[in-house]
Amino acid sequence: MEKTDLLSLTDEELVDFTKELGEPKFRGEQIFQWIHKGIKSFDDMSNLSKTLREDLKSKAFITSLKIEKKLVSKIDGTTKYLFLLDDSNIIEGVLMKYKHGLTACISTQVGCSMGCSFCASTEGGLVRNLTAGEIIDQIHAINNDIGQRVSNIVLMGSGEPLHNFKEVVSFLRIANSKKGLNIGNRHITLSTCGLVTEIKRLADLRIPINLAISLHAPTNQLRQKIMPIARKYSIEELIDGCHYYLSKNNRRITFEYSLIKGVNDLEIHANQLVMLLKGLLCHVNLIPVNPVEKAAFEKSKDESIKRFASILKNNGIEATVRREMGSDIMAACGQLRNSHIDKQKN
Ligand code: SF4
Repeated sequence: MEKTDLLSLTDEELVDFTKELGEPKFRGEQIFQWIHKGIKSFDDMSNLSKTLREDLKSKAFITSLKIEKKLVSKIDGTTKYLFLLDDSNIIEGVLMKYKHGLTACISTQVGCSMGCSFCASTEGGLVRNLTAGEIIDQIHAINNDIGQRVSNIVLMGSGEPLHNFKEVVSFLRIANSKKGLNIGNRHITLSTCGLVTEIKRLADLRIPINLAISLHAPTNQLRQKIMPIARKYSIEELIDGCHYYLSKNNRRITFEYSLIKGVNDLEIHANQLVMLLKGLLCHVNLIPVNPVEKAAFEKSKDESIKRFASILKNNGIEATVRREMGSDIMAACGQLRNSHIDKQKN
């Protein structure tokens, strides 16, 4: 019989699991609490009987990933983690220290199949989906490492979260649970390259997390050049999906726009973006692109970034230029994992 990963279960699912073992509801709740205190061994769950602990050992396990490598930025304290999974796969996570608290950026897949041309995570394609437990455990590992609790989570590491819909939704429920990580939905952001069908499915679940859209271009023609997903869903369909999400969750949408020199950072692009986003409750994050070795993209000049931001603001669209974090530790998504894998091959 295949063992069940208890870290992947929501509180209700864990109660159901323990009921099947013949235990009352409160036992499931106790186990859920132990697990989300970061306890990994059933023997450490001191209020459970020895018989139950033995039963759990034979039928269940608790995912436990290891920190394989850790790099701390000398510039701003941003910390990049490489996590080693049970099957020897490697994923990345980043801890960022902001004035408003500690933010963890975590992965939802090993690799990614979406093929965005500016992204290092997709270079080796998709290896596999992460389980909800593996997504949660990145937070546990960071909390344990720093001896504090992160207060914000962004699903913006490797992988397209909505391409791993079921596990990501379980993760959201566990992260928000009072007895789980107890992180408010408003402190969780899911970033997607724009899977419109899944954006609408997520909207229908009415889990009021923040939605961030990796937009990066204001027209279909340009977006198709840098993001293959744009050939499946037009930009108009994507904006329609955003309106739908807003109608269900009433949460302002964030658009991520990486500025690439000469590709999408011209005045005409800013004006096209204004036309596209007019009337939508949104915010634009302008990101000076981190150069990716295998894609010949250059970062926009400072004047271009300023001009782009001011065109948006002058037209009533809120925009901020994202501060570069951890530029000395390969903090761009996928870069550290790729260099680690390359080193292992050599
Ligand atoms: S940007 Fe996100 S969706 Fe696109 S390839 Fe990278 S990880 Fe995948």
